Amino acid sequence: MLRGQSTRVPLDWKAAVLPQGQVYVIPSRCKECRFCIDFCPRDVLTLSTETNVRGYRYPVVATGKDVACVHCEFCSLVCPEYAIYTVEVAGAGVTP
Ligand code: SF4
Ligand code: SF4
Repeated sequence: MLRGQSTRVPLDWKAAVLPQGQVYVIPSRCKECRFCIDFCPRDVLTLSTETNVRGYRYPVVATGKDVACVHCEFCSLVCPEYAIYTVEVAGAGVTP
């Protein structure tokens, strides 16, 4: 272990490939609580500039994050309105 290195990592971690997710949002259900945005570990989401019929902004994929989602499903788990979910993209992968 190198001086100052405090964590162990697998020797082959660079060979790992994470799933890639496609994000789907149902804007009309969103109440702009931001849970999905704040809990996303990859900073995939940001708020829209437009509002839904109830006057709330909703999450959209941020600029430059089109292939960053790893389908961890945190966003759908924390959403109280069932307004967001992801689907794994077949044959695609994201490097760590
Ligand atoms: S599935 Fe995970 S990585 Fe993808 S947008 Fe939701 S929280 Fe972020
Ligand atoms: S967690 Fe759900 S309700 Fe809250 S901002 Fe995200 S999509 Fe909207």
